[in-house]
Amino acid sequence: MRGHQKSLPNLKFLHHQSTAQITPSTSSIRQKFQENRTYRKFQKENSLQIDQNQSVTPVMNNAVKLLRQNYIQKTEPNETSEKQNGIAENQKKSNQKPTSFKFLYRPMTKQNSELMQTLRVASNLPEVNHVYYVSDLIRAYESKDSYFNRLFQDHLQASFMAFKQCATSKIIFRPKPLFLPKDPKDQRKYTLLLDLDETLVHCSLDVRLPCEKKLNIRLSPSEILQVGLTIRPGLQNMLENLQPHFEIIIFTASHVQYAKKIVEFIDPKKIISNVLSREHCCFTSLGQYIKDLSIIKNRSLSKTILVDNSAFSYFYQIDNGVPIIPFYDNKQDKQLALLTKYLIGVVGQEDIREYNQRYLKTYLLEKLDSLEQIIDNYKAQINSKKT
Ligand SMILES: [Mg+2]
Repeated sequence: MRGHQKSLPNLKFLHHQSTAQITPSTSSIRQKFQENRTYRKFQKENSLQIDQNQSVTPVMNNAVKLLRQNYIQKTEPNETSEKQNGIAENQKKSNQKPTSFKFLYRPMTKQNSELMQTLRVASNLPEVNHVYYVSDLIRAYESKDSYFNRLFQDHLQASFMAFKQCATSKIIFRPKPLFLPKDPKDQRKYTLLLDLDETLVHCSLDVRLPCEKKLNIRLSPSEILQVGLTIRPGLQNMLENLQPHFEIIIFTASHVQYAKKIVEFIDPKKIISNVLSREHCCFTSLGQYIKDLSIIKNRSLSKTILVDNSAFSYFYQIDNGVPIIPFYDNKQDKQLALLTKYLIGVVGQEDIREYNQRYLKTYLLEKLDSLEQIIDNYKAQINSKKT
């Protein structure tokens, strides 16, 4: 057993996510879950697309080892494996991914990203009636294929599936109630919980890939994890603009030491006041880490928001959740600027859940039975604002 695991004797099961069990069903959604699970299983077994029969370099061996340690929460298909393919062309032959997972977003690699430049959505400033997330989502379904349009479509589909999956799962670990320290002089009304991976930053365990900063993270006296960090554009501006109104806290499903090290680097002005990590998440029978905001006893849910690229994170308090498409390495990403504008609109609201219901309508993902119905509802919302 590794040193860091000894310090968490009651959380052994959290280190292994392959326990998901889904009752066989003939429904199409269940079939997609099953396919998704098979896909993830494949990813786990051959997470870097390295053919077990081929010779593997020591560097690759190390990368595989690190990836399997699962310190970082990865809720999307493993982008490292995609990039690995670009580095070792001959390993493409070992790529045996099922072909039926087109709904899953496949991150672009650095190698082919230039080819998509002409397809990227122009970074126009949002129009007056622009609704964060929803307007871009509708545009993604109504305009031609592009990098960001695919991200929005895949994110909605993944969120829809995640909610349906969460509805069938059971909690097998629930964290203790939590009392967060707060300066009595702090008059800020609102608490903003921000996910880390693929929301604020992207970290790769393959440090040979392009990144902004390579960090060595000590997880235990004998273990160091090396990651390549890329920060989402606009992060610093967002923190500074929201700081007057929001107490800002990181809530990640990743390892606590990893999270603290990343926060130390991305927040030199110490705007982020706290870090909640994996041990503060619920763990379900389907292998999900869900962030139950009700464990925070000294904050009001009417004033607490969670921004997370993984929709299941806020499944227990859907109206407190704010979606965001995942970030990998695209410098054209404008989501944090748009998110900031949306969150500034929260200021003055008595109950942020009503605000989210009115604009984001994330509850539709749980309430409605098909993506088509959800998209139609969103279209009606956008069209009503235009008239
Ligand atoms: Mg995330």
